[in-house]
Amino acid sequence: MFNVDEFFGLEKEVTTTQRKFDAVSYFSAKFPGIYVIRLFEKFTPLDVHFLPKQRVSVLCLGADCPVCARNNILFHEYGSEAVLNSDFIARQRRYVANIVDRTPSVVCPACGESVYKFLYKANMPCPQCGAAIPPQAETVVLDKVRLASFSKTFVEQLKVIATSVYDNNGNLKPITDFDIKIISAVVNGKTQLSPFPSDSVSEPPTIAPNAVFPHEKIAIKFSKEELLSVMHGAHYRDVLKARDTTTTTIPATEGITLDDSLKSEAENIVNVINEMFS
Ligand SMILES: [Zn+2]
Ligand SMILES: [Zn+2]
Repeated sequence: MFNVDEFFGLEKEVTTTQRKFDAVSYFSAKFPGIYVIRLFEKFTPLDVHFLPKQRVSVLCLGADCPVCARNNILFHEYGSEAVLNSDFIARQRRYVANIVDRTPSVVCPACGESVYKFLYKANMPCPQCGAAIPPQAETVVLDKVRLASFSKTFVEQLKVIATSVYDNNGNLKPITDFDIKIISAVVNGKTQLSPFPSDSVSEPPTIAPNAVFPHEKIAIKFSKEELLSVMHGAHYRDVLKARDTTTTTIPATEGITLDDSLKSEAENIVNVINEMFS
């Protein structure tokens, strides 16, 4: 039977795919379970502030940072009590790197989206397209590059692993040569991650050179002026939009696409930051 929509490609969700391709894929071990990752690149330490009112994470601007400046004022005024002030927004150091996510995942036969196997329940709706994922759906190791950010404690644990795993000849094994299992568990209401070296033998992942994400994408990078207006109540999304219209010379029709992708990027960041800090 002739399908008009199929013929003209009207049912193909090009914009969705496009957006997914452009968007950063973040690694989050929020849900209790066992994750499998492979490290392959150096970590970048980055300082961020989580702005609780807008539930968004921004990069600290160091010596120029208005959030730190306000923290300092509060410190002078209230001493150690400053941290109790609702305007005090602590600086958090995160260790950021792209990782390969090797957690076994169940693939939605309808759209190709995946769900971690340990979270999968028979016929659960796909988070992407809503179709029921049947029990006979394929389980795969996605080997997907994602941008991860870890706490100092976690990275110190990784460092212990990196200095304590030897091969059969007694040589230290580079930590990039084996998988890391991460056990995520809720302890006293807080998500705690513990890394372990995986002894299962697996092929090294192949990583496309263009698959990695810039580390700074872990949070939104504002200028000092932009950050000040966010602190004074402007919505971060409006600030991003304003930047877009003042700096872009792209024709209006393309401008809409840019605006859209910016919005989805911002939403992406917000989602992952919520997960990381909740
Ligand atoms: Zn700062
Ligand atoms: Zn789906």
